[in-house]
Amino acid sequence: MFKNLIGGEWVNGPRVSPNINPSDTRDLIGLYAQAGPEHAQQAVAAAQAAFPSWSLSTPQQRFDILDAAGTEILARRQELGDLLAREEGKTLPEAVGEVVRAGNIFKFFAGEALRPGGEALASVRPGVGVEVTREPLGVVGLITPWNFPLAIPAWKVAPALAHGNCVVLKPAERVPGSAWALADILHRSGLPRGVFNLVMGRGSDVGAVLLGDPRVAGISFTGSVVTGRRVAATCTARMARFQLEMGGKNPFVVLDDADLDGAVQCALQSGFFSTGQRCTASSRVIVTEGIHDRFVAALVDRMKTLKVDDARKPGTDIGPVVDERQLAQDLEYIAIGRAEGATLAAGGTVRERNADGAPGFYLSPALFTETSPAMRINTEEIFGPVLSVQRVKNYDEALATANDTAFGLASGIATTSLRHATHFKRHAQAGMVMVNLPTAGVDYHVPFGGRKGSSHGPREQGRHAAEFYTVVKTAYTQA
Ligand code: NAD
Repeated sequence: MFKNLIGGEWVNGPRVSPNINPSDTRDLIGLYAQAGPEHAQQAVAAAQAAFPSWSLSTPQQRFDILDAAGTEILARRQELGDLLAREEGKTLPEAVGEVVRAGNIFKFFAGEALRPGGEALASVRPGVGVEVTREPLGVVGLITPWNFPLAIPAWKVAPALAHGNCVVLKPAERVPGSAWALADILHRSGLPRGVFNLVMGRGSDVGAVLLGDPRVAGISFTGSVVTGRRVAATCTARMARFQLEMGGKNPFVVLDDADLDGAVQCALQSGFFSTGQRCTASSRVIVTEGIHDRFVAALVDRMKTLKVDDARKPGTDIGPVVDERQLAQDLEYIAIGRAEGATLAAGGTVRERNADGAPGFYLSPALFTETSPAMRINTEEIFGPVLSVQRVKNYDEALATANDTAFGLASGIATTSLRHATHFKRHAQAGMVMVNLPTAGVDYHVPFGGRKGSSHGPREQGRHAAEFYTVVKTAYTQA
């Protein structure tokens, strides 16, 4: 039994949840204790008790702990990657890549602990000095989704600790294994009791306690727009700080002058890899008419070569959908696309068993063509391996179509024109813009986040993470 970590103790809960492998639903990864609301309150109390001392810890202490955690994560990349692929269903190479990212994030924020910013300025009044410094926020509640079971907890926990905050982490119900492994690493890393707490359980009770508890100074949330709205409403009512990273409907524009093979590879990678279950996945490819037919033909050809199979099997390109509920959502949108009059040019077929006969949630990547901007498959996040192609006349129409969305996380373009690339970088209404690169796949040391309905609040990751995890103080001294 894998337990919750509260105040340095491993604690049972009122319920137990099985962690099931979506590549083979007969495979039980483990039983995970589910915390109740009272455990969330205990975790907040433990974090609050640990804060006065941790907030005054030295940069060296914080560096040593975060650096050691990063070293262990990196050293165990194969084993943790195997666990991650087994519980979430992304392929083993993708899962190992996510583990490496998590390890590197801890290393980066270990360095950040040693680099506290600050300014010393002359006052406008004679003989007075002014200092502007950053202090930790306090107890932070971190609520994470299922699609990056290790990297997203890492990119919230590491900056929170580096900047001197105490943490209560509530991971997604569907993938507790990787977050538990992280808790185990942090528990053994030398962190004082209560500085980091893990409560596994339902959003509606455990998560809701974190949102409403006045002792929690800030909530960093990644997940769906629907839950994000609830986080915003609850935190606003009690004037707590919050940060939201939510859905996407990311466009990838392909212009007539693009390198065809490169554009197809980008669309394939960001449309279908990780089973399309990435907030930065491209779900709309917007193609100018001069290259449209060649692009679609080449993409369909490449799609035929993709192997959908057990996530941990060598040679698998695309693992299973995470669970039955997500599969049902993907299939519903495929049915909606057909009913809306789009052409299903490839894929969209379910297999209940993989090549070895293991039961799982296998869906072949689906491509819709002849779609129009108002279709629901072009406006709503599906979060599966479903890509739609929109035909446009020219660059101006492509840019307008790319921006015609309620979301604004990532936006990509394939072009050999410097003029169009430069214009697109400036005018794409997204937090992240990619030129001749897939929309999914970002660096760990630079800001991550979006605009419009995709994000709210300061950016995550890189040096910008300090904006959320610290408060600014201005101090005046009369010499
Ligand atoms: P979700 O909103 O269902 O759940 C996210 C987390 O919120 C989970 O831990 C859940 O238990 C918790 N939660 C649910 N209800 C809650 C409540 N009432 N109070 C407090 N917490 C609550 O999202 P999901 O299905 O796990 O994740 C998929 C979504 O995440 C997609 O929309 C995807 O785009 C988004 N996502 C965004 C990013 C990004 O950085 N923009 C990254 C990854 C995933």
